[in-house]
Amino acid sequence: MTARKLKDLTIGTRLGLGFGIVFVLFCTLTLFAINRMEYLANKISLIHNHPLTVSNAVLKIDTHIVKMHRTMKDIVLDESAAEINKDSEFVDKHERETYAEFDIIDKSFLGNKALLEAAREAFVSWKPVRDEIIQLMRAGKRSAAIRIIKGKGARHAVKIENTMDALYAFAQGKADEFVASARDTTDQSIKTMYLLLFLVVVTVMIFTVYLTRSITRPVEALRAATLEIGKGKLDTPLNIDADGEMGELARSVHEMTVNLANVTASRDELNEEITERKQAEDELRRSEERIKLLLESTAEAIYGLDAEGKCTFANPACLKILGYESMDDVLGKNMHNLIHHTRPDGSPYPMHECHIYEAFQKGTGTHVDNEVLWRKDGTSFAGEYWSHPIHEDGKTIGSVVTFMDITERKGLEKARQKLMDNLEEKATEMERFVYTVSHDLKSPLITIQGFLGLLEKDALEGETKRIQGDISHIQKAARQMQELLADLLEISRIGRLVNTPERVNFNQLVQDVVELLDGQIKTCGVQIDVMPEMPTLYGDRKRLLEVVQNLIDNALKFMGEQTAPHIEIGYHLKKGENIYYIKDNGIGIEPRFHQKVFELFERLNPEIEGTGIGLAIVKRIIELEGGRMWIESEGKGRGCTFCFVLPDKHGRET
Ligand code: ADP
Repeated sequence: MTARKLKDLTIGTRLGLGFGIVFVLFCTLTLFAINRMEYLANKISLIHNHPLTVSNAVLKIDTHIVKMHRTMKDIVLDESAAEINKDSEFVDKHERETYAEFDIIDKSFLGNKALLEAAREAFVSWKPVRDEIIQLMRAGKRSAAIRIIKGKGARHAVKIENTMDALYAFAQGKADEFVASARDTTDQSIKTMYLLLFLVVVTVMIFTVYLTRSITRPVEALRAATLEIGKGKLDTPLNIDADGEMGELARSVHEMTVNLANVTASRDELNEEITERKQAEDELRRSEERIKLLLESTAEAIYGLDAEGKCTFANPACLKILGYESMDDVLGKNMHNLIHHTRPDGSPYPMHECHIYEAFQKGTGTHVDNEVLWRKDGTSFAGEYWSHPIHEDGKTIGSVVTFMDITERKGLEKARQKLMDNLEEKATEMERFVYTVSHDLKSPLITIQGFLGLLEKDALEGETKRIQGDISHIQKAARQMQELLADLLEISRIGRLVNTPERVNFNQLVQDVVELLDGQIKTCGVQIDVMPEMPTLYGDRKRLLEVVQNLIDNALKFMGEQTAPHIEIGYHLKKGENIYYIKDNGIGIEPRFHQKVFELFERLNPEIEGTGIGLAIVKRIIELEGGRMWIESEGKGRGCTFCFVLPDKHGRET
């Protein structure tokens, strides 16, 4: 296997291979050691089973022979047959045991069998000698027995021992041979095992170094590359073509680097986006603060509604106008039920008709200025409001309502309207006035023109009488014009020339007028009754005198054919007001003219001298004084009563 091929192997395979080789070497070493040990054990067992067994058996046979020989010596000394029998048995026993030992030697002896047979023969040949000695002893021939035992008996015993010694020597030699062989084997085995161990260690070291390097080198290279990548050098080259786990790891790191590059790019974009968003948020916050400041500082009341018509916010002006202390009092409340539930006329205002809610129901803005809004304390005020829908993602999610208390403006508008009506009325009146004045002034002018023509003609003809008549007509027309102009002047002055108001004794005022008109009263023969001790009035005395003078003058003028003309001046109290009246029993005024006669130049009886301005002056003075006046008359020939009321002010008596 070449180095290149080894390099291509995976780390796992390389480790497996390394450990496999080490395992095989260890196994070999172990098997060898076991084999050697078995060999040695065999050797030991051989020593034990052969030379050692043989040596032991030889030594035992020696012992038996010694004992047998000694017992034979005892037999020759025995005194009785019993003793001889007993010792003979003892000798037989040792003989049997000796044969048994010979059998053992026969089985284990590795040397020349002739040696063994020689020993056995020597032992067997001793038997007849012993039997002879015993028979001699039984026969009572002790001395013969002693001779034999000391002679050939002893020689046999020595012969046997010699043969046994040869056997022993051979066995010992064999044992030594085995021990030397075992020692050699042990020495060889130890050397071989050291060699094998050395080989194992060297192999392990070589593989360890190789494996460590083959793993650490690419790991180190990858680590260095990843460090560079970590520093931001994402283009650091990686050995992505390598095989095995390192190639796999390099490809993973490469993939990770590519992803990291993408993530970094995304992160940069994200950072940019975050910065932009933060700027937008800051701007939004500033804008919100500005809006908040605006909402809090504006005098206009503003509140927000959600799609259900519930309050989402309210600015301080809104709470103040509605009389609430905290935003919590209105937050989440149905604002229609809270502040918009009733119409100006007091009738209930159903929610489905609410123009404020229309903004988010129909999605269009509304503006209303003729409704009322209701405060916390149950009072209402004229309000003008705008309700603008709030759109989010194409959906209307509520509205912003702006409103203000327009009570003052409404009052001003009302006053302005009144003024406008007044002006219009005045303009109409002025128009009619101008028309009537020009018409009424034209009539005496035409009269003057006509009579001037006649005067010229009569003067040329010398008709003195007719000249006087013409002049008298011209004078009358001129006087009429003068009166008309005086009255016009008078009416134009009313309201402009105001005298200081004062307490006026009405009885005294009437008295003064009666004196002024004394001539007329007497001429008409009118009875005048004045109620005594009438309440005092408070106002412009000169104007009030004009009023009374005009009314009494008219009563005298329009008395008609009354045989018992009568004027009554007095007052009565009605609903806390003093109603002053001037009542006559003259020609009366039909009810349909009760208003009309107060207008300028309105004259119901043109045949009676007058300008039609008097009652207009009277009414204007009373109204300027803050009072009102009216006529009570049942119609023609039923007399007429002019009533007026002046306000009770400045604490004066009435
Ligand atoms: P004048 O007296 O110059 O005609 P006024 O304005 O004083 O003008 O009166 C308007 C008209 O009201 C009179 O022309 C008359 O027809 C009617 N009138 C006023 N006072 C009386 C009265 N006391 N009785 C009946 N008619 C009256």
